[in-house]
Amino acid sequence: MELTLQEKVGTYSVFTQVAETEHEQVIFCSDNATGLKAIIAIHNTTLGAAAGGTRMWSYANEADALNDVLRLSRGMTFKNSIAGLNLGGGKAVIIGDARKDKSEAMMRRFGKFVDSLAGKYITAEDVGITTKDIEYMAMHTKHVAGKPEYMGGSGDPSPVTAYGVYMGMKASIKKVYGNDSLENKKIALQGIGNVGKNLLERLVKDGAKVYVSDFYEDKLQEIAKQYPSITVIGLNEIYDLDIDIYAPCALGATINDDTLSRLKCNIIAGGANNQLANEKIHGDLCRDKGILYAPDFLINGGGIINVYYEILDNYNRERALRHCENIYDNTLKIYDLAKQDGSNTQEAAIKMAKERIDMAAKLNAKK
Ligand code: NAD
Repeated sequence: MELTLQEKVGTYSVFTQVAETEHEQVIFCSDNATGLKAIIAIHNTTLGAAAGGTRMWSYANEADALNDVLRLSRGMTFKNSIAGLNLGGGKAVIIGDARKDKSEAMMRRFGKFVDSLAGKYITAEDVGITTKDIEYMAMHTKHVAGKPEYMGGSGDPSPVTAYGVYMGMKASIKKVYGNDSLENKKIALQGIGNVGKNLLERLVKDGAKVYVSDFYEDKLQEIAKQYPSITVIGLNEIYDLDIDIYAPCALGATINDDTLSRLKCNIIAGGANNQLANEKIHGDLCRDKGILYAPDFLINGGGIINVYYEILDNYNRERALRHCENIYDNTLKIYDLAKQDGSNTQEAAIKMAKERIDMAAKLNAKK
């Protein structure tokens, strides 16, 4: 297997990692007064301003935070491109526990850092960030989307993200089973946060048999009360069930050597970002094991589609939902492309996303 640049260099180097992932710019934001430690990664601005949410997470160490933001921002470049948006890819992470370390002052200070980039990066919500936090950031910058509805924004993007995931899941079911009905399909849903619980509502309504896991016992108890037909399962048990679909809606890299040796499903389709621990190895393994993998950045693009209309300044949820429906046809197109190229589905989706970026680069060169 070909060595990465980082492996060739041998010692840990931030610049090597940034170069390897082909980022345009990475900004480290530190503020002692508020305890803010954040990284903003701008991956590619060929299609427009780099757009992507901010995640707050208690990373084990700073290298993990950097690794996460670089992977996420690269994913945003492809996500925005394949969704047909005129936006480049970027992302931010704040290091800390969102339940304990967050404050109004920290969110406002972060808004100031975003503003200092003068529109090159547009932020929004991701894991650990709420519309209230977005409101604080918006006190200091206009380069923030996903603002609350009472501020003229598009509000929480998660219901639209979940709708897109649902579209991608239905297209995948159509590919495997010949029709796209979810009725009686056994689905293991990992994470019942903003995206997961909106997706769950659609799955239950369509008559799917849903197994649910989450970190937080209180969330699980609440959701089990709301949907008596679901089955609550353990965090680790989710990889050993006999199911039709595994739907990761928590954090990334849950498709790896260990889980792929255990998963018994026909389809993987969920809302989490960066689901494949290694795009090549685990994308290929899914294909070889006969598991149809719905590329994450393709089917979870609903959230950014939603904020796109806010960025354009003519927000309309109906329009965002209609735009999301393209995910169904695009998912089927990617499956055809992967078959034709003999590639894995993630590679096929990246190829399609890159074609649109190359097209824009050529147009930009002619300005
Ligand atoms: P969230 O924080 O609201 O929910 C995540 C949930 O996953 C939480 O309830 C958490 O307890 C749970 N969780 C974490 N680790 C888990 C594990 N190992 N097993 C089971 N549950 C676990 O986040 P969200 O906004 O719902 O986003 C979920 C995923 O979707 C993230 O990867 C995010 O980047 C991605 N995503 C979100 C949006 C959006 O619109 N919110 C858009 C695109 C992608």
